Amino acid sequence: MNAPVAIDAVSLLRWYAANGRHALPWRSTTDPYTVLVSEVMLQQTQVDRVLPKYHQFLTAFPTFAALAEAPLAEVIRCWQGLGYNRRAVNLHRIARVAAERGGLPADPAELRRLPGIGVYTAAAIASFAHGRDVAMVDTNIRRVLGRALLGDAAPTDAAARRLAAPRLPPGRGRDWNLALMDLGAMVCTARAPACSACPLAQSCVWNAAAPRALREFRAPYRPAERFVGSRRYYRGRIVDALRALSPGASLSLAVLGPAARPDYDDAQEPWLADLLAALARDGLVTLDEQGVQLP
Ligand code: SF4
Repeated sequence: MNAPVAIDAVSLLRWYAANGRHALPWRSTTDPYTVLVSEVMLQQTQVDRVLPKYHQFLTAFPTFAALAEAPLAEVIRCWQGLGYNRRAVNLHRIARVAAERGGLPADPAELRRLPGIGVYTAAAIASFAHGRDVAMVDTNIRRVLGRALLGDAAPTDAAARRLAAPRLPPGRGRDWNLALMDLGAMVCTARAPACSACPLAQSCVWNAAAPRALREFRAPYRPAERFVGSRRYYRGRIVDALRALSPGASLSLAVLGPAARPDYDDAQEPWLADLLAALARDGLVTLDEQGVQLP
């Protein structure tokens, strides 16, 4: 199937101006530090959980310099509730680089050299903080572009990037990215695309090709990956136990094991040691003769 050459940018941007999620606090700033914090938080955490932590984090660490100077343990404590704690370590490392060089680079390739910054986050910082016309592809954008241009709800990231880059209207990169993102989150959703309310409906391949039953399809419910009992779950439990200590205090393995899992016994010590070694490699804990503590 041939892809149409364009998306109706005028209709899309008009829809975004009227319906976009403009009230999200990180939408009203171009400050690189604030954009970085919000994008790193949003990498793996949903908007409603990010909102309170975003404000709390920026109050505790309002600038690159403040974050760079803070003890890492304090940053990890402040990250509580967001999950994927390694992001706190990466943010702290980035803040030190930024404080030293006087800010973040604007070029996506340079941004990707920073810890924890992948293709998407680099494009987001370049677009939202530096006003670069860089096409972003997240899950929502990928689905919208795939459906609208190919009639395919799940193109690969690389295919979606090839669709996105040439269609980005010069000088409107930020709004374009946000418009596609919001359209995917609010209208062209994974489970129930609302084509009758979509500004792209006229030219959309999916809408034209799909019979009514398919346009109104509801994707089957897929339960979330089992989290409790996973390695990530126990990593979080260990960091949570250490967060509860006063600064500088540590826990022995004999205390930390049962704190991480109620059914812990001595036979599980290799399991615990393996988890702690991984956490230490990620910069989230330190181990010494006193026991285990936040760095
Ligand atoms: S017309 Fe329907 S399938 Fe096409 S982009 Fe809009 S909501 Fe998605």
